[in-house]
Amino acid sequence: MNLNSENFPQRPAWTEIDLGKLRRNLQLIRGDLPRSVRLMAVVKDEAYGHGALDVARVAVEEGAWGFGLSTLEEAVHLREGGITAPLLLLGERQEAELEWCVAHNLTICVNEPYAVRRLAKIAADFGKQVPVHVKIHTGMSRYGVRWDEALPLIEKITAEKSLRLEGVMTHFSQSDEVDKTFAHLQFSRFQEILTALEQKKILVKLRHACNSGGFLDLPKAHLDMVRVGILLYGVFPSQVCRQLPGIEPVMSVKAKIAAIQKLKTGEVVGYGMRYTAKTERRIAILPIGYGDGFPRVRNEGCALIHGQRAPLLGGIAMDALMVDITDIPQAQMWDEAVLMGKQGGDEITVRDIAKLKNSVTYDVLTNWRLRLRRKSVNARTAPAKTETVLATDGHR
Ligand SMILES: *Cc1c(COP(=O)(O)O)cnc(C)c1O
Repeated sequence: MNLNSENFPQRPAWTEIDLGKLRRNLQLIRGDLPRSVRLMAVVKDEAYGHGALDVARVAVEEGAWGFGLSTLEEAVHLREGGITAPLLLLGERQEAELEWCVAHNLTICVNEPYAVRRLAKIAADFGKQVPVHVKIHTGMSRYGVRWDEALPLIEKITAEKSLRLEGVMTHFSQSDEVDKTFAHLQFSRFQEILTALEQKKILVKLRHACNSGGFLDLPKAHLDMVRVGILLYGVFPSQVCRQLPGIEPVMSVKAKIAAIQKLKTGEVVGYGMRYTAKTERRIAILPIGYGDGFPRVRNEGCALIHGQRAPLLGGIAMDALMVDITDIPQAQMWDEAVLMGKQGGDEITVRDIAKLKNSVTYDVLTNWRLRLRRKSVNARTAPAKTETVLATDGHR
């Protein structure tokens, strides 16, 4: 017997992360951007559930300038994994976090005067000059200093020797809808402050506003950098935004058939007896449930088996769901089923799952539980580095 961790039996339900597709998406996005515009890869929440370290390693190779994150833990995790690129924490920091940010060379957004003084003091104690970004709220009313009150704060930052104003940013509340009226209003407010900075001869290296929607649909707002999240992972922020051909989803969810049952007419399936067989049925049990993040549906949705749609029967359980394989007679024990992703010529999209969940694609990607093993594939199918790829180094 050999009971070591390397041959620990893997659960027959998992998320598959195709790093080859991630690489391709990065190349398409990088290729669509003017050379002068930097790419920040947003990898908060474990890169939207794809595994931040794996994603960051590929993104560095494909010319990402740096990474956008949410929490201190996320950023420290990347540093400890050997990522040396700039890491920008996008939200607000508690005072106790500032020292850690300086120690780990993390870049933070500073949005009020007290934080400016505290960070400046800590940076001076470390003997460092620390880059900071100012997040300007231009209408979203979330984080940041109001656009019409930002100038005095920015001047406070530039007056501190241990701080270096590296970036000024804003964030759109609606950049991927057909109606861009509010996005344009937000951008004009942002431009007001940028103009005021120019008049004061305050130079800012990185002015940035765009998320995936803005990257796709608001080229005038690209400025010095775009912050792309969901599109890296192959999912468009909406169905009405510009479609970049060749972008493909990176994540799939799979499980293997763990039991097969035959139903006679009138027999029922699952908790609550939510399905009754009208004729004889053959069903497969997949060992994945709402405890893994699958939406808690009843008689809705399907799995792909042998490239065919097998409809879900009855209510889904914490650890299991049942699908009808009457029309897929070749389906056998331990055959692979796809719950999200492609099989054969068919696909269950992230959006399909979002509909079942009555939610958005972002929520679907980030809410698969980690007890589904994350399996990365195609880590090294990249074409040999060409000169074009190397040339992206020029605008880091
Ligand atoms: C999450 C986030 C992004 C990325 O948004 P996507 O729609 O996933 O591209 C960009 N900027 C900020 C400030 C964010 O919080």
